[in-house]
Amino acid sequence: MKAFVYGGAGKKSLEDRPKPGITDPGDAIVKMVKTTICGTDLHILKGDVATCAPGRILGHEGVGTIEAVGAGVTTFKTGDRVLISCISSCGKCEYCRRGMYSHCTTGGWILGNSIDGTQAEYVRIPHAETSLYPIPKGADEDAMVMLSDILPTGFECGVLNGKVSPGSTVAIVGAGPIGLAALLTAQLYSPAEIIMIDLDDNRLEMAMTFGATRTINSADGKASDKVKALTDGKGVDTAIEAVGIPATFELCQQIVAPGGIIANIGVHGQKVDLHLETLWSQNIAITTRLVDAVTTPMLLKTVQSGKIDPTRLITHHFKLDQILDAYDTFGRAAETKALKVIIDA
Ligand SMILES: [Zn+2]
Ligand SMILES: [Zn+2]
Repeated sequence: MKAFVYGGAGKKSLEDRPKPGITDPGDAIVKMVKTTICGTDLHILKGDVATCAPGRILGHEGVGTIEAVGAGVTTFKTGDRVLISCISSCGKCEYCRRGMYSHCTTGGWILGNSIDGTQAEYVRIPHAETSLYPIPKGADEDAMVMLSDILPTGFECGVLNGKVSPGSTVAIVGAGPIGLAALLTAQLYSPAEIIMIDLDDNRLEMAMTFGATRTINSADGKASDKVKALTDGKGVDTAIEAVGIPATFELCQQIVAPGGIIANIGVHGQKVDLHLETLWSQNIAITTRLVDAVTTPMLLKTVQSGKIDPTRLITHHFKLDQILDAYDTFGRAAETKALKVIIDA
């Protein structure tokens, strides 16, 4: 089968690989229909993710059709259309019983990381019963792909951890796909203001059409002053970090209001300074989270009912044999205006 393979820092290729088989009674083999590329895949290709070894098939998002199931799988059968969660969960371990699937002792974020992933014609899904979701009849499968990772990530790590609430003020630093997913799902709670901050005017324009109330281009280094000016000098109740670099996390520290929350989503590869000399008395909280994908069933209903339309995040379509072009397009997002790219297997 065709598969996109990480070959070590800076190395990637489309290769022929053997089709995966069932290795555990809880497994399913899924024939991929659609997948996508995540910003995290770009981190892996840079060599930032130590758990992902060279030779790994990447990808942790997608929809497909069940090809085969292990003897322990009773809720899915061959031919079922399924949504693949980016988080695999056994449903039984201490963390899973607490709803913290991201830290499942035999799962978590393993797909396209410590085991082969979805950017291939077939993928083996461990703990299939608790890591796959049936796709409702007639559902838009492009939209479903957005439920594997970015919608639950923006929602759980940004909106829920940031305690976005009616009438509150929110700033989202980073208007990439994850920042926009946080923007879409923050509106479920009717905050008064959602300020999007980015360096790219195209993405900021897009953010306005997605429901942002204000945008700030931070290229001039004055984003913090501008947020203060928009909030009577107070700052925002929720500052969502959706980039993963020191400058954006520091900006969140500058714009969080007393009593506010900094909700980190970004994948950080470097240390960041924590300014306790200014924050110690400000009653703030800082949250971090690896998505648990525990809200996927709820988000699926909001997508099915039309409350959220995640297909607006999709800018490009490719075939699996064009995946190198897809990576090139996704990796040069400022020039290509790419947000999410769909790859048809
Ligand atoms: Zn991802
Ligand atoms: Zn578990």
